[in-house]
Amino acid sequence: MYDPVILAQHTRKIVVRGNLRKYYRKVRSERWYGGIAGAYCCGCNLRCVFCWSGFPRDNPDKIGDFYTPEQVFNQLKEVAHKKGYRQIRITGNEPTIGRDHLFGVLELVDQSNLLFILETNGILIGHDKQYAEQLSKFKNLHVRVSLKATNPEKFSKLTGAKPEAFEFQLKALRNLIDSHVSFNPSIMMSFCSPSGIQQLMDRLREIDQSLASNLEEEYVILYPPVVVRLKEAGIEPVI
Ligand code: SF4
Repeated sequence: MYDPVILAQHTRKIVVRGNLRKYYRKVRSERWYGGIAGAYCCGCNLRCVFCWSGFPRDNPDKIGDFYTPEQVFNQLKEVAHKKGYRQIRITGNEPTIGRDHLFGVLELVDQSNLLFILETNGILIGHDKQYAEQLSKFKNLHVRVSLKATNPEKFSKLTGAKPEAFEFQLKALRNLIDSHVSFNPSIMMSFCSPSGIQQLMDRLREIDQSLASNLEEEYVILYPPVVVRLKEAGIEPVI
């Protein structure tokens, strides 16, 4: 079992150079959120069994090139404008690992009419309260914290991380509330039992009454590499 905070430190050494971040794929337009431009970064601090990011997650040292915040923002802006989208994101892996790079992109987003959707597992925001405070300075930002499971044991089973790290996901929600950052939680429903969902709802209500009603549902997409991973782990989606 690994500690995702430590894994983030190791991964950062590979995918971050100053304010440069490694990306493995050109910016493209996507259908999510009603249309969004997405840049694909390398490296994550979790190892979710349902993750569709294969090689760039597990071998970030062997793939990708480094880009400045300006380069990434300009590509995102170009694709968004071409398609008439207002939303942009950094996807593929975990954007919060390169903090200076991310903040560099967000500074540029704030000078535009675009909205940045920060999709994150929240571990680093939960681990460091200052991260949420720093995010609160950006106005064209909405954070989506993707909860991986409904409790520490399930979290560990699905990510391979130590169970206690699940609390960082929930702590991220608390820290974002305290810092008045626009956000919503989501949950990977495909591996949840009804009692597990109830358990999670109770935890969310303990943090804030509004969280349970703003919980977005996510479902696994069975891309071929995901099917292989699930099979190897002996895990089947229930939904
Ligand atoms: S947090 Fe996201 S990118 Fe990282 S392993 Fe999980 S699903 Fe993949």
